Amino acid sequence: MELITNQKIRTKILRKELRNYDSFTPLTIVKCIHCGKIFQAGEMQVYKHNGDYLVYCKHPECSGSIIDIIEYT
Ligand SMILES: [Zn+2]
Repeated sequence: MELITNQKIRTKILRKELRNYDSFTPLTIVKCIHCGKIFQAGEMQVYKHNGDYLVYCKHPECSGSIIDIIEYT
């Protein structure tokens, strides 16, 4: 898996993936139900694997992905 570090590409992918997932935006405050941490959805990590983009928890030590985040209210 290749970590996407280019901020422009990262933001573009995140916007699309977050919207498709649950109408989130990069500014949505989310909670990762895997590690319990709270952060902005736009801070999540984006990886490329076999041509697909995968979105993971902000914290690299956590294996939570986009399906593990809920809106924090
Ligand atoms: Zn996490």
